[in-house]
Amino acid sequence: MTVTDQALAARTRAKPRPKPQGVTHVVERGQTLFRISQAYGVAVAALAEANQLKPSSPLKIGQRLFVPGAKAVKKVEPYRPLTTDERASLEESLRVPMTKPPPPLPVPPPPRPHVKTDAEFQWPLVGPINSPFGPRWGKFHAGIDIGSPHYQEVAAAADGEVIYAHDTAGPLGKAVVLQHGRGMRSVYAHLSVVIAHEGDTVRQGQAIGGVGDTGRTTGPHLHFEVRKNGAPLNPEDYLPATIDELVRDLTTSSR
Ligand SMILES: [Zn+2]
Repeated sequence: MTVTDQALAARTRAKPRPKPQGVTHVVERGQTLFRISQAYGVAVAALAEANQLKPSSPLKIGQRLFVPGAKAVKKVEPYRPLTTDERASLEESLRVPMTKPPPPLPVPPPPRPHVKTDAEFQWPLVGPINSPFGPRWGKFHAGIDIGSPHYQEVAAAADGEVIYAHDTAGPLGKAVVLQHGRGMRSVYAHLSVVIAHEGDTVRQGQAIGGVGDTGRTTGPHLHFEVRKNGAPLNPEDYLPATIDELVRDLTTSSR
């Protein structure tokens, strides 16, 4: 061993790799990656990556998961499917178009996020808004319609769990509903194909289906809704600004 080799070896020994910070969570009955991610405030993708799992991989009772960044073991509520009544009321809300605008929000939405990472949701796909949230044809359009060709991939707007993946047998056609944290839900409708399964955990950006024209439509598009405690919100308030909007803001502010 040369002097240089010895010096290198000593330097390598002197620098032990830092142990990643976090705790080990032992999985109990019914716990899912989404529920664990919510309890610890860690993104599903970070949890999945730290444990070399797919977001939708079913967990086993007693399985040990490393929760990066966590300081103490937390209590995690198990996943439970919707009750018959909850499902019936969700299906009713998907089947019957709203006639009146929802009551005003007790707290107005935060200013439109301009930085992608500041937004609570991400766009489920890229496309023009062909019909905004608001009154339409004497009824109330509870979401936005995003124009897109058939079979374009539809992505989960945020981490969540699939609580509904079915044909609504109504004007919205085949639909997926995701449950997120703090009473938020998102709805994806008129799908051609549904690839998410009820009970699955999905990470933000994960494909859940394909654009279609099932239900009542004049062509393929995605009907996208954001709801809080059942009441529809304008999805645009929770999505990052589009490139077009950023360019418009820049050009108006520079005058
Ligand atoms: Zn629509």
